[in-house]
Amino acid sequence: PETTQGSHVTIFRSKLPDIDIDNTQPLHTYCFEKLHLVSDKPCIIDGSSGKIYTYGEIHLLCRKSAAGLAALGVGHGDVVMVLLQNCPEFVITLMACSMLGAVTTSANPFYTSHEIHKQFKASDAKLVVTQSSYVEKLQSAEFPVIGDGMTVVVVSDGGDDYDKVPESCHGFSDLFNANEDDVPTVVIEPNDPVALPFSSGTTGLPKGVILTHKSIITSVAQQVDGDNPNLYITPEDVFLCVLPLFHIFSLSSVLLCSLRAGCVVLMMKKFEMVSLLELIQKHRISIAAVVPPLVLALAKNPTVENYDLTSIRIVLSGGAPLGNELEDALRRRLPRAVLGQGYGMTEAGPVISMCPAFAKEASPCKSGSCGSIVRNAEMKIVDPDTGVSLRYNQPGEVCIRGEEIMKGYLNDPESTSKTIDVDGWIHTGDIGYVDDDEEIFIVDRVKELIKFKGFQVPPAEIEALLLTNPGIADVAVVPQKDTAAGEVPAAFVVRSSGDEGLNLTEKMVKDFVAKQVVFYKRVHSVYFISAIPKSPAGKILRKDLRTRLATQKSS
Ligand code: ATP
Ligand code: MG
Repeated sequence: PETTQGSHVTIFRSKLPDIDIDNTQPLHTYCFEKLHLVSDKPCIIDGSSGKIYTYGEIHLLCRKSAAGLAALGVGHGDVVMVLLQNCPEFVITLMACSMLGAVTTSANPFYTSHEIHKQFKASDAKLVVTQSSYVEKLQSAEFPVIGDGMTVVVVSDGGDDYDKVPESCHGFSDLFNANEDDVPTVVIEPNDPVALPFSSGTTGLPKGVILTHKSIITSVAQQVDGDNPNLYITPEDVFLCVLPLFHIFSLSSVLLCSLRAGCVVLMMKKFEMVSLLELIQKHRISIAAVVPPLVLALAKNPTVENYDLTSIRIVLSGGAPLGNELEDALRRRLPRAVLGQGYGMTEAGPVISMCPAFAKEASPCKSGSCGSIVRNAEMKIVDPDTGVSLRYNQPGEVCIRGEEIMKGYLNDPESTSKTIDVDGWIHTGDIGYVDDDEEIFIVDRVKELIKFKGFQVPPAEIEALLLTNPGIADVAVVPQKDTAAGEVPAAFVVRSSGDEGLNLTEKMVKDFVAKQVVFYKRVHSVYFISAIPKSPAGKILRKDLRTRLATQKSS
């Protein structure tokens, strides 16, 4: 076996056997490989309008749009920026770009003009696909003039101005006028980039991540291919797509996995509890991908009890830590569904592990676990300080290796070589361990551990504990500077709406934790706030809270 610094390396692998993955084809060919079987079946339902697109229709619109984008000058290697909420045009643009050998970079449409510009510039995009309401953000002085140095294609927002395309922009539906046979013939290599997602920027600035046809296909195949797919989806399934597609979790595990498996994707532009519940009931949604804040809402919001959610057979949570107590609370509301987690990161293509209970031949998975490592990949756990490989049940930094990982960071060879070592391992920056049943538990990020004297406190563990208090609706724990201990845990708490929340005091919060943990994990101060800041992918924005700590007084 491989050795590091002369010591033995423990390599963890999937419990499922490896599969054959044809990752030498272009992404769109792979996704639409079984088109002939599902051509007349629904592919996308637009939740807001109810409009249904079949697989055959979507494929045709992708080809027409590829020809239309080529006519606007998009060619092999060019970058197209997508600034859209979830909608069919998102999918069409992504697949059309793949057909042209072009690259899609997607950004959060709620970003400010300046934030969008940073990604636009870093990615060297030449064309932007957006909604009419966001065109304004592309008109600041930083950007090139629309129609002169930057081409803008606009998806209608609906409403009164339905047919109005802003000046100098092109209408997305005009792309459909192109002839599908005019898609230029291009040679696409497996290592050509096809997507340029940006990491969430939870620990610093978002980083551009180069994902190739090969890496994305490998990751999708690791999830849904083989005789015993890890995430078993049938053409009869209806997959909820409410998580934003500009984040890699939704793009890979929801959209691309669905296309590959030939199921229905139900798109929602944004999360709103009542419409979500209505759509689940109306369309008999069977698989839901969620993030922990959504699990929290589904587990705690009383409205949920008024709807029939029995159609749901799988709930896949990812993107951020989910404690077993919260997982169990949702399980009580959805007794028929299999609940589990996937764990990944943009750089890993993105999926690293997946709940084995989602497999066709399901095997059990513990609450709070992130499942088992995906097939055709290797994992090791190392001591973050010494790099020494650790064994079962020993927490350390998770490292992953396989054909699914990124080619590298955009224009940043230094960060790339810090993240991918010479042996091809990605160092995730996450602390986790593998237990005796080959299940992975993520403790927290290396960077977020609170350092109390020599002890390390994972904020996610204290947060999970505090969420079991009925007086607490939501919570985030961050380090606070302390002269004696260096850092101590401080909690930002959102009170729940009932009496238990109203009567909750700082002392009660502190005592609640103190009674259940070792001394160094105790909460030293409590700040009551109205909401915990979170990213669209469900991550607690701890850096915002740390900044707030500097200005806020304990209550
Ligand atoms: P940045 O790298 O820019 O600071 P980010 O790491 O949040 O941001 P993403 O690639 O979107 O950007 O997120 C990957 C991270 O999300 C992982 O490294 C891990 O910390 C966290 N994560 C994802 N899934 C899970 C999960 N199931 N449990 C715990 N943490 C998770
Ligand atoms: Mg990261």
